[in-house]
Order: sequence, then structure tokens, then C-alpha cells
Amino acid sequence: MARYTGPVCRLCRREGVKLFLKGDKCMTKCTLERRSTKPGQHGTSRARKESGYSKQLREKQRVRRTYGILERQFVKHFGLAATRPGKTSENLLQILEMRLDNLVYRLGFADSRAQARQLVNHGHFAVNGRKTDIPSFIAKPNDVIVVRDRSKTLEYFKTRAELLSQKGIPTWLSLDINALSGRVVTIPSRADLELPFDEQMVVEYYQR
Ligand code: SF4
Repeated sequence: MARYTGPVCRLCRREGVKLFLKGDKCMTKCTLERRSTKPGQHGTSRARKESGYSKQLREKQRVRRTYGILERQFVKHFGLAATRPGKTSENLLQILEMRLDNLVYRLGFADSRAQARQLVNHGHFAVNGRKTDIPSFIAKPNDVIVVRDRSKTLEYFKTRAELLSQKGIPTWLSLDINALSGRVVTIPSRADLELPFDEQMVVEYYQR
């Protein structure tokens, strides 16, 4: 499955905000805090006035890059969000949050979405008892995500179990540390998601 393989701090520098793509390292050694210019040859040029289109594009890129998704798949998620009843902008965030790689990250099994994606790809998780190695799998309420038995013996998951007790998880998820399993309690509302996005701009970008 295609994914971005370039330097991730460059993405934060391009967007001018911390996207927290490197897990705990983002709290201690953030490149953006040391080097805030935009990447590339014209990174230090005088900032130009942003057009409406440019603002919409940047917001869309921030959301997309935060979840680590390439454009084609993001457009698919947007298309699905548009077909669901309710606000497309909220539907889009809910779909992104219900992706399996995001849930693995939110449950604390990984430090970043990129790491979560790799763990899912390597087949360490089962959803409702079935091995699921597709990061873009969209979960539903009451789905149970569990570390597979053969993976529980790995050193990574043994040490992870100790770390999990120190991590907080969102109220719309529940976690059983001993069983290394998590459950989707409900679909999160916008208020549950403390995300700094103006998702309406993403909708405007695609509907322009
Ligand atoms: Fe972004 Fe994290 Fe790199 Fe800082 S350390 S620039 S937040 S990916």
C-alpha cells in the first residue's frame, strides 16, 4: 500500500504547525521549534497573502497529513463522508478516526499513526476475532480490536502493556490492558475530538 516515505518534519514545516507525526519525540525534540521556515528553495521568502483557495488547500493538507493518508484514499474517505447523512465535515473526521490504524494509535498500542499503520500491516491485530491487516479498515461501534495471541509474546507488546496504564484513552474507546484489547464504545462526536482543524474548509476545497 502506498504511503509517504519522505521526512515527516518537513510536512510540519510546510504546514507551519506541529502535526505530531513522530510520537513522543514531538514533545521533546521538535524540529519545527528549532527551524520554522518552510522547506525548499523559497522557504525563507517573504510570506505572500493567502487566497481563499490556498487556505482551503492548506487545511485539507493538514488533516490529510495528520492521519498519514495519500490524496487518493483521502478523496475516497471524503466521497464516503458525503454520502452519509449529517454534516460531511463531521462525517469525514469520524471516518478518519474509525480507521484501524488510528484506533490502534488512539488505544495507545503505538506512539504515532505511522507506527500503528506498520503494526497493523504486519498482522498483529484482529478485529472481532479475525486477523485484520488493512490500516484503512473502518471500524464500527462495538468492534473489538485485540493484539493477536502470537503477537502478545513479542517483547514490544509485553513492554507496551506496562506503558498502557500511563496513557489516557478517549472516552469513546475502552481498553482492557490485561487482554491487550480495545473496544469502540461509540462513534465520536466533534466535541469528543480535540482536533485543531477547520474541517469545513476541507469540504469547501473539494466542493469548489
Ligand atoms: Fe512535526 Fe513531530 Fe517533527 Fe515536530 S518533531 S516537526 S511535531 S513530526
